[in-house]
Amino acid sequence: MPRSFVAIATITMLVWGGSSIASRRQITPTTASTTTTSPTSSKPAKVTPVERLLDSASPVTGQLSKQAALRLFSMLFGAVPGVTVPPNKERGLEATLAVRSVMAHFDEYTPKQQRAIRRLLEPPPGTITVTLKPGNAGQPRPTASTHPPEERRNVLVAARAASGPQKLADLATSLIDKFDHVYQDSQRFGPGTGPNTITLEIPPSAPSGQNYLGWELPAPDDPESCQIWLVARDLQNPRGNALLVAHELFHCFQDAIDGGKAKVPQWIGEGSAEWAASEVQSAQTSSWWRTYTTKPSARLFSRTYSALGFYAHLTEVGINPYKVIPAMLRADSNEAAFAASGANSNQFLDSWASGYFRGEIPGKDWTMTGPGLAKYPQRATPVSVSIPKELPDGRPFATKAYTNSIYRLKTAADVLQVDVDPESHVRISDGSTDVNAHTTTIVWPNLIAPPEDVNG
Ligand SMILES: [Zn+2]
Repeated sequence: MPRSFVAIATITMLVWGGSSIASRRQITPTTASTTTTSPTSSKPAKVTPVERLLDSASPVTGQLSKQAALRLFSMLFGAVPGVTVPPNKERGLEATLAVRSVMAHFDEYTPKQQRAIRRLLEPPPGTITVTLKPGNAGQPRPTASTHPPEERRNVLVAARAASGPQKLADLATSLIDKFDHVYQDSQRFGPGTGPNTITLEIPPSAPSGQNYLGWELPAPDDPESCQIWLVARDLQNPRGNALLVAHELFHCFQDAIDGGKAKVPQWIGEGSAEWAASEVQSAQTSSWWRTYTTKPSARLFSRTYSALGFYAHLTEVGINPYKVIPAMLRADSNEAAFAASGANSNQFLDSWASGYFRGEIPGKDWTMTGPGLAKYPQRATPVSVSIPKELPDGRPFATKAYTNSIYRLKTAADVLQVDVDPESHVRISDGSTDVNAHTTTIVWPNLIAPPEDVNG
């Protein structure tokens, strides 16, 4: 049985029949498939209540709804009047999205709810505060290379051995310093780009009933400065803090770039922070890869942390995300941010969906790369479609805007004709022949002809 593989990415609103497929001639099928990989795929990971809330952002605004924000906040920070949430069994969550989302809707809550939110965000007793000013009174900061990895490890081990407040403050400072320099590398944002002041708040542990590792907010008096909260208990885990610290610090860079803009769509705010944190450190892997790799049909603008794969794909097509993230942060709509990223190009769209096959088909456009991705080999399940030998009226396929669809077509027909909507991007492979198209007609398996020829 010959198999074909189809990946569709589209940037248009609900394209009717993004492509139509019809079998034409009846010839004994040839052995079109040379693919040897068996088409196994993992089931999508079980979605937790927190994940469901996180990825429920509005496709229009990229923000959580008023109620979803309050539910998420309550699951991470504690009881808020009028909100009932299931007990949160997930440990160690990054909480910036929860805090920012609830602050974005703050005026819409009742006075009782507002008081509860404020109280839950107050620093618990024993919180250490450290203020970091870049430039150190005009002196250049030491470069990252002056702190070789062995030395950093020693600092961490020493801090674990003596966990007094000063040691913790030193540890947090050294961690922030490390990633601050990384982000200010000329290959990334370049020197001079960064927060004015970073204030670290280090609670001894998340208070009882609270369940966060860390979060970040722009400073109230200077939106280009930031406050980062890191729970001391977790800071003392040398391997476990690298992703979190790099992620929170990236939020500070976002604030410095966009002036602490309150309503950044979460696929940009959280997605780029999660990608950048994965990119600058290798001690830890983002578990959000599982969501990205198994849910191709999730709309990009409704993604949050799982949008990290979008930035990884920018890299795959030669776009440096650090060069486009500033324009994305400043854009005034999701569509404008998407365009500012360079993702409207054929190069990006022609290989976005096909990457979800993750190496099942030969060629770099049929696989996916990203920092830490190797630890998550899961593959999305393509929709299986059988095409009858005779299908004179065709069969429509459609994919929503800013999403991807992947199919596995099975047919005994010898020839498939695929008419591609001008604003869609379709890519087909049978394992040996690989065709991508937008605004054209494909005749499959091995002939590409203009429409007048195939309609004859
Ligand atoms: Zn975050």
